[in-house]
Amino acid sequence: MNGVDDLKAAEIAPSSARPSAYFAEEHELLRAQVRRFVETEIKPRAQTWEEQGHVPREVLRRMGSLGFFGIRYPTRYGGSEMDALATVVFAEELGRSTFGGVAITALVHTDMASIHVFRAGSETQRDKWMPGIVSGEVITAVAVTEADAGSDVKGIRTVARRSRDDYVLDGAKMFITNGVYADLYCVAAKTAPSGPPSQSISMFLVEKGTPGFTVSRALDKHGWRSSDTAELHFDNCRVPAANRLGDEGRGFYAIMKNFQNERTVIGAMAMGEAQAAIELTLDYVRTRKTFGAALMQKQAIRQRLAMLAAKVEAGRQLVYHAAWLDTQGIEATREVSMVKAYCGELVNEVVYDCLQFHGGMGFMRESTIERMARDARVQSIGGGATEVMLEEVAKRL
Ligand SMILES: Cc1cc2nc3c(=O)[nH]c(=O)nc-3n(C[C@H](O)[C@H](O)[C@H](O)COP(=O)(O)OP(=O)(O)OC[C@H]3O[C@@H](n4cnc5c(N)ncnc54)[C@H](O)[C@@H]3O)c2cc1C
Repeated sequence: MNGVDDLKAAEIAPSSARPSAYFAEEHELLRAQVRRFVETEIKPRAQTWEEQGHVPREVLRRMGSLGFFGIRYPTRYGGSEMDALATVVFAEELGRSTFGGVAITALVHTDMASIHVFRAGSETQRDKWMPGIVSGEVITAVAVTEADAGSDVKGIRTVARRSRDDYVLDGAKMFITNGVYADLYCVAAKTAPSGPPSQSISMFLVEKGTPGFTVSRALDKHGWRSSDTAELHFDNCRVPAANRLGDEGRGFYAIMKNFQNERTVIGAMAMGEAQAAIELTLDYVRTRKTFGAALMQKQAIRQRLAMLAAKVEAGRQLVYHAAWLDTQGIEATREVSMVKAYCGELVNEVVYDCLQFHGGMGFMRESTIERMARDARVQSIGGGATEVMLEEVAKRL
C-alpha cells in the first residue's frame, strides 16, 4: 500500500460523508482529529512498532496530550466528558489505521482497563490515578483471564487473602494486553474462593514493581504484533486493602458491566478495520488487470465487495445504535452481544475476501491486507468469543 492509496482511502469517510442521526458536531470534530493523527503519526511509523512488539510510550503520551485518553472522563481529571458515541468514533478511526495492535493498545487503556478505576474507584483512588491515566503518563491493563478461565470468568483461581490491612495475591493471569509495559493493573482475584462464584471475585489495583508481582512472559502472537501481551504472576504479592476497587465480592458484576463498553468498542474498531479493508481493496481492484480488464469489471468481484460494504454498513449502524442506547441509559446487553458476535465475524469475512482479491500479493508480508487478516482473527475470540455472545443473545430472544 503506498501513500497515494492511503490518502484516497482516507478521503472516503464512512459516516461523516453522510449525515447521521447519531453524531453531533463535537463527534465529527473528534473524528477528524483522530483521523489526522492516524494518517500523520500512526500509519507512517507503526510498521516499526509491529517489529518492536509494542507502541512506544512517547506515542501514548502524545495521544494523552491530544485528549484521546480522556474522552469519557471528567474535566477535573483532564478529560472532555463525552459520551459512548465519542468512544465509538475513537475506536472506529483507530480501526481504520489498519494497525489493530496500535488500536487495541490505546483502547484497552481507555475503555477496558482504566474504566475499572473510574467506575469502581474511591475518590482517593481516582484523584491519585485518573490524571495520569488521562495524560498517558500512567498506562493501564486489566487482568481477568487465566490459562484455565477465559470465557468463564467465574472459574478464575487467583486468590486474594485478607491479611490485616493488606490483601495477599497468589495466582497467574494470561493474555493480558499492555501486560508488559503497563504501570497499573486492574486484577481480578477471588476473595471468597468457596463462596457463590458471582460474589467471590474482587478487583485490585496492582502497581508495576510491587514485590511478588512479575511479568512472567511476553507472548508471541499471530496478529496485533504492535500490542504487547503478557502472562503475569502473583506470588505472595501484598497490596494494601486500600487498593481494592469497590466493595469486596463485587468484582464479577464490575467486570460484566464493563464488558458492555468493551464489546461496543471492539465492535467499532472491527467496523473501522473492515471499512479500511474494503477501501484499500477497491483501490486495488480498480487498477489490477486480469484477462484484459480491471478486476472491478468482473461482476463476481464487485458484487462480493458490494455485499461486504452493505454488511459493514449494517454492522456499523448496529454499533452506533448500541452506543446510542448507552447514551440514553438503556440496558443493551442484547444489542452489545449482537455487536460483538456480528462484527467479530464480519471483519474476518471481509478481510478474507479482500485478501483473496489481492491475489498472491495479499499473501505477502509487505501488503497491508495480510497484516489486517492476521489482526482480525482475534476479533471473534477476545473480549467474548462469538459463541459466548450468541448465548447471551439467545437468552434474550
Ligand atoms: C490477543 C489477546 C488479548 C487479550 N487481552 C486480554 C486482556 O487484556 N485482559 C484479559 O483479562 N483477557 C484478555 N484476553 C483474553 C480473552 O478475552 C479470552 O481469550 C477470551 O475470553 C476467550 O477465553 P479463552 O481463550 O480461555 O477461550 P475458552 O474460554 O477456552 O474458549 C475456547 C473457545 O471455545 C468456544 N466456547 C467457549 N465457551 C463456549 C460456549 N459457552 N459455547 C460454545 N462455545 C464456547 C469459543 O469458540 C472459544 O473461542 C486476550 C486474549 C487475546 C488472544
